[in-house]
Amino acid sequence: MSQTSIAQRFAPRLAERREQHLYRQRPLSFSAQQAQMQINGLQVINFSSNDYLGLANDPQIKADLIAALQDDNTGYGSGAAHLVTGHHLHHHLLEDELADWLGVERTLLFSTGYMANLAVQQTLMQSGDLILADKLNHASLIDGALHSEAELKRYAHNDMAALERRLQTFAEKNSTGQVLIATDGVFSMDGDMAPLPEIQALAKRYGAWLLVDDAHGFGMLGQEGRGSFDYFGLTPDENTILVGTLGKAFGTSGAFVAGSQLLIETLIQFARPYIYTTASPQLNAIATRSALQRVKSMDKERALLQQHIARFRAGAEQLGLRLWPSPTAIQPIMLGDSATALRWSEQLKQRGFWVTAIRPPTVPKGQARLRITLTAKHTSEQIDALLNALHACATMD
Ligand SMILES: *Cc1c(COP(=O)(O)O)cnc(C)c1O
Repeated sequence: MSQTSIAQRFAPRLAERREQHLYRQRPLSFSAQQAQMQINGLQVINFSSNDYLGLANDPQIKADLIAALQDDNTGYGSGAAHLVTGHHLHHHLLEDELADWLGVERTLLFSTGYMANLAVQQTLMQSGDLILADKLNHASLIDGALHSEAELKRYAHNDMAALERRLQTFAEKNSTGQVLIATDGVFSMDGDMAPLPEIQALAKRYGAWLLVDDAHGFGMLGQEGRGSFDYFGLTPDENTILVGTLGKAFGTSGAFVAGSQLLIETLIQFARPYIYTTASPQLNAIATRSALQRVKSMDKERALLQQHIARFRAGAEQLGLRLWPSPTAIQPIMLGDSATALRWSEQLKQRGFWVTAIRPPTVPKGQARLRITLTAKHTSEQIDALLNALHACATMD
C-alpha cells in the first residue's frame, strides 16, 4: 500500500537544501571543548561554543566527578524516571542549591532546556489561553507554545508597543483566558536582551504570567551570575517562571525551571516531559553542583569577558562590520545571504578560526550571519587575530 518511498519524498528536499546553501553538517570535534580545538581535522580557535566560562572541561569539575565515582553509593545512570527510582541525592541537592542561588522557593531539573520549555507551556496553558511570544524566541519556546492548547501570537522583536497592543486586544475581547508572555532573557542568535523591566510591568498591568528562558543569562549576567532578572535589579513574582539551561555557561547538560513551590509541584504532578522520561545521569548532577560553585565565584571571569566583548566590538566597528546591539558574549556579524555567510565561515576556517554560519530557518530569511561567541577562556591576542581574519574576509568579498 506504500505509494511513496521515503527517498521519493525527501531526496528532492535534501537536494533543494543543498542548492539554497542551507545544508547542515555536523563538525566532528576531536578534542575536549575548549578555546583551542581540533575540529574536522583542523586546528582551530573555537568562537562558536556556548561554554562562556570554560567550565565544560574544567579540571576541578573533572576531579570532583572522579572523586564522586569512588563512592559506592554513586553510580552513573539514574535508572528510571524521577517519579520512579531515578531521583537521586545529587539531583535533589542540586535543585536546592540552584534555588538558594537564585533566591526562589524551588527549582526542578529537566534533561534538556527543550523539554523544560515544552513542559512549562503544555502544563500551564489551557484552551482559551493566549501565549504572546517574541518573534526571535528560541525554537524550543516556540515549539512548546505550539504543543500547548493555547493560541500562539508572536510580537515584533522587543517591541513593547506591539506587545501591549496584543495584551489590550485580548483584554477587550473580555476573555476569561489567561495570557502568558514568553521571551528569551538573552536572545540566542542575536545576543541582545529582552527589556525585562518593561515586560514585567506590562505583565503586572494586564495580569499576564511571565516565562523567561534565560539560557544565555544564567551564569553570565548579574551578581554571582544570577541572570537577567538580577542584572536589571528585578525580582520574579509568583506568576513568573524562569527556565535555565545547564549546557551553556555551566558547561554540563540539562536544564531547570525555577519559581514558586506551587509551580514546581504542579510540574511534578502534570508535566509529561518531566514524568515520562528517564532522569538525567546522576553524574551530570554532580558535575553541575561543582559547576554552580564555580559559576558563583567567577565574577572576575565575567568581567574579563566584558573586556573581550568591548575589544571585539570596537575592532569590528573599525572594520565597518555590521554588528548587532548586543552587550553579551553572543556577537553576530550580519551578512545577509547564506552563500556569503558560508564563504566567510569557510575562509575563517582556512585561517584557523571556527565560526559557525547561522542560516535560515534558524534565523529569518535574509539575515544569515556569523554567530561569534566570546568566552572568558579566549585571550586578547586570539580576539585580535580573529578581527584580522574578518578583515581579510571583508577585503576578499
Ligand atoms: C540552548 C537553548 C535551549 C535548549 O536547551 P537544551 O538544554 O540545549 O535543550 C533553550 N532555550 C534557549 C534560549 C537556548 O539557547
